[in-house]
Amino acid sequence: MMFYLPIILISIFILTIIAMMIILSKVLTDGILKPLSELNYAADRISNGDLDFEMKYTDDNEIGKFCNEFDKMRLRLKYVLDKQNRYEKSRKELIASISHDLKTPLTSIKGYIEGLQDGIVQDEETYQRYLEVIHQKTIRLNHLIDDLFMFSKLELNEFKIDLENVKSDVMMERILKEKEIDFLNLSIDLQIERPFKDAILRVDEKRISQIIDNLVGNAAKFAKSTIKIYTKKTDDYFEIYVEDDGIGISQSDIPYIFDHFYKVDKSRTGNTLGTGLGLAICKQLAEAHGGNISVSSIVDKGSIFKVTIPTIPKEYYTSV
Ligand code: ADP
Repeated sequence: MMFYLPIILISIFILTIIAMMIILSKVLTDGILKPLSELNYAADRISNGDLDFEMKYTDDNEIGKFCNEFDKMRLRLKYVLDKQNRYEKSRKELIASISHDLKTPLTSIKGYIEGLQDGIVQDEETYQRYLEVIHQKTIRLNHLIDDLFMFSKLELNEFKIDLENVKSDVMMERILKEKEIDFLNLSIDLQIERPFKDAILRVDEKRISQIIDNLVGNAAKFAKSTIKIYTKKTDDYFEIYVEDDGIGISQSDIPYIFDHFYKVDKSRTGNTLGTGLGLAICKQLAEAHGGNISVSSIVDKGSIFKVTIPTIPKEYYTSV
């Protein structure tokens, strides 16, 4: 027995070494070679512009952490590229949209003028009708060009905003007094909730008036019978609400409603005259004041647009 002991010990030693080598090789393969080859494969895919994959190696060790950071980098890259692609797409759509919106009324004006030149219009009534159509189309073109001009200035940050400290209730009264008169002859009931909430704002009043004009103008296009305007105040913001009981906006349209040139399906809204720039301009103007604009809406019940403007402490208000 004593004779076999060294052989047994040597065999156990060799077996232990072999077992350790197997374990070491498994650890090396699973813990280092596999993730390294996954990283290699991932790097290849990224260099070929393919970012639609996910790193599978998620073990809780140093290489796992590295894979995780690598995957985060992939996601950041994907986000930036997606954003760039969306921007590029929207730029192309913008150009197509502008060309279309300018071309349509121009083609029509050209047709009517040629009709007049060719002498096909004999009676005074038709003559006047042609002139009226031409007049309407030029008003539309003018409106579109004004909107485009304003929008591009806002986009390029070239728009001058003359900020002044004003009392919110005084401002609202000034803006809405005129609106109330406009609505006296309309079938829509404009309900204005007074008193307005009282806060001090730093705003360009003309621009706030422009936002309200736009929202009330849109509401008037769609309201069945009533438009309500009211204000609220939170700790940091003054809020202006424009509510209508019109056709509403579907949940699928809401995310895009403030994008430039976005128009809700004409067959549903009957809104063929809009430029699709009004709300995009409102958004830019609200943001230029450090505020924002949002909407909540229910189809066939109506929409509520909310504009928020930051308030400033009362001691900053000096003028009366
Ligand atoms: P437009 O000048 O074409 O009216 P806007 O940017 O003002 O452009 O509005 C974008 C789209 O949102 C329009 O197509 C319009 O149909 C829809 N919309 C705006 N306001 C309302 C509202 N109060 N109720 C229903 N739809 C609205």
